[in-house]
Amino acid sequence: MSIVTEILKKIKEYDVITIHGHIRPDGDCYGCQFGLKNIIKTSFPEKEVYVVGEVCNYVTWLGEPDVIDDEKFKGALSICVDCANEERLSDQRFKLADYVIKIDHHIPVTQYGNMQYVLEEKPACAQIIFEIYDEHKDELKITREGAIALYTGILTDTGRFRYDSVEPATFIAAAKLLALGVDIVDIDNKLSVESLDVLKYKGYILSNFCMTPEGFAYVVVKQDVINSYGISMEDAANQVNLLSTIPGYPVWALIIEYPAEIRIRLRSRGPNVDTLANQYGGGGHAKAAGAKLESWDQLDTFIKDASLVAKEYNEAIK
Ligand code: AMP
Repeated sequence: MSIVTEILKKIKEYDVITIHGHIRPDGDCYGCQFGLKNIIKTSFPEKEVYVVGEVCNYVTWLGEPDVIDDEKFKGALSICVDCANEERLSDQRFKLADYVIKIDHHIPVTQYGNMQYVLEEKPACAQIIFEIYDEHKDELKITREGAIALYTGILTDTGRFRYDSVEPATFIAAAKLLALGVDIVDIDNKLSVESLDVLKYKGYILSNFCMTPEGFAYVVVKQDVINSYGISMEDAANQVNLLSTIPGYPVWALIIEYPAEIRIRLRSRGPNVDTLANQYGGGGHAKAAGAKLESWDQLDTFIKDASLVAKEYNEAIK
């Protein structure tokens, strides 16, 4: 039996299903959670299906997480989407569930769950969810609402169809979702709106980023700066790709101070950076990874390590 057939068997078997995503959910995580909920609820209306975890202010229109008691998890199936490692799951109560399935597209960091369906080559986890639906249309249903969630997931995690992991199947998925009634202009408009404060903050990033001679561009954003612009942490962290275009700078990062951690958002259009992220308590994809600094004392070492990755790449392509 294929893994997908086994996943469907489990979905049919359980009356209560909880869907978990990662901390600080992004468009793909939310898109998977609400898209999958829609597929299960539309196909099996008698089941109780809950999306749990943190709110994502970036794509609020996809839905709102459910608030449920611990009791609900007992005897339930938990499906965890878009998350490589157990500790990054935003509602840890999947540990109370009877059976746990992981569906993901990240390079695995630590394994968790009773069953794993991980396709690292897929540009978005929402594409995996769509393909599960598409290949089992004889028994699964989706509504326009679910299609919007999955399309938003694919759109956001591919940088609007620009990243190198985009494959023909990505456009096929998008085309089929479009045929289900997705309004692509509306979604693009919603994702493109920016407040005046965020625009001004972008000016700060562009005026204050640093470049190392080896080819690493980065910006450090501390709490006082975020507060002075009156923007959310999410909006502050989202601007990493402002540094993506500089010739000779294939690696870039936004290093941002959260109340309880220093988060690194690391990006590349050349060398793989997931191994570097692993060295700093993180992971992700080859060209888009996240990591942490234990303290600001580690910053210089991280800059040196990232510069080395950029340098080796720049020398190799000379
Ligand atoms: P971010 O810059 O946080 O958007 O991260 C880029 C990619 O790496 C996303 O797909 C994240 O899910 C993943 N990622 C971020 N932080 C971590 C981490 N600490 N451990 C594993 N994966 C991560």
